[in-house]
Amino acid sequence: MRPQDILMPVAAGLCCKPGGFHIDPVRPVERALITHGHSDHARPGHDAVLATQETLDMMRLRYGDNFAGSTQAIVYGEQIKLGDVSVTFHPAGHVLGSAQIAVTCQDKRIVASGDYKDAPDPTCVPFEMVPCDVFITEATFGLPVFRHGDAALQVRKLLDSVALFPERAHLVGAYSLGKAQRVIALLRAAGYDAPVYLHGAMEKITRYYESRGVALGELRAVKGMKKADLAGTITLAPPTATADIWTRRFPDPVTAFASGWMRVRARARQGGVELPLVISDHADWDGLTATIDATGAGEIWVTHGQEDALVRWCTTKGLAARPLDLVGYGDEDEGETLPPGEDSEA
Ligand SMILES: [Zn+2]
Repeated sequence: MRPQDILMPVAAGLCCKPGGFHIDPVRPVERALITHGHSDHARPGHDAVLATQETLDMMRLRYGDNFAGSTQAIVYGEQIKLGDVSVTFHPAGHVLGSAQIAVTCQDKRIVASGDYKDAPDPTCVPFEMVPCDVFITEATFGLPVFRHGDAALQVRKLLDSVALFPERAHLVGAYSLGKAQRVIALLRAAGYDAPVYLHGAMEKITRYYESRGVALGELRAVKGMKKADLAGTITLAPPTATADIWTRRFPDPVTAFASGWMRVRARARQGGVELPLVISDHADWDGLTATIDATGAGEIWVTHGQEDALVRWCTTKGLAARPLDLVGYGDEDEGETLPPGEDSEA
């Protein structure tokens, strides 16, 4: 059986005809398998959704109880038969509950990895290497210029700035699902035990992480705080809020932004970011190439991001590779919009 007979890109997303499902569909479908809770992958309106419990919970938090006709939770490693294929979910190391989806048909296995990273993250289960024939990789940071380095050093940079400017508030822009909780966990690992303040849009998902056993220390809502009392503190906020009039409630704020894009200085400058922090939940160039290598796959499909360089790298290694024409996926750091009513308040 050819791989493209098992999985193929269609307008709604990645379609598995013999299994009767789509992976991370961008349009409503009968049966959706969802890799993780970010809004470009997990959309409402499907008849049936199969995902990890955490991903289902995050969709419920974001879209409400009726986000799908029916839901089924799957645990890592559990095998489920769908039509003529069997599927298993494996940790992707991207955010809490994130999964790679392995689709096996006869003797062929394709792994759709969704978004992933191989770097350590105290807030989620580490990436699992799944041997396969075809590996579908993201390429958000698929250029050799992207090397994220050690996230702990970036957090050290933030703490040094806090020590240097005790009269100023530090505002850290971070995507509210995954990145914010990881930054808080990294602060705790670095020995920072003061309360960390949260923008209102981050409270629900952060409390959810805590309910799943991720320890984040003392957290406080920034809402209702006096301006003067925020001197010397750290607040996590969605990236869009850090450029908003919402920031006026902070004393002379230092604006930081935690993202893999902060490797590009021009990008930090354009965004008015005073303190760029290179912390990403996506694999960097070395992570992507090492992972591709380790899967043992002879064929690589490259999607959402900078496909060309990665396809070229695979070709020079003697691997069959092609860009996968999927639309509707982006970097969630870019695309995040705040829930209604939470744009500038809280
Ligand atoms: Zn994601």
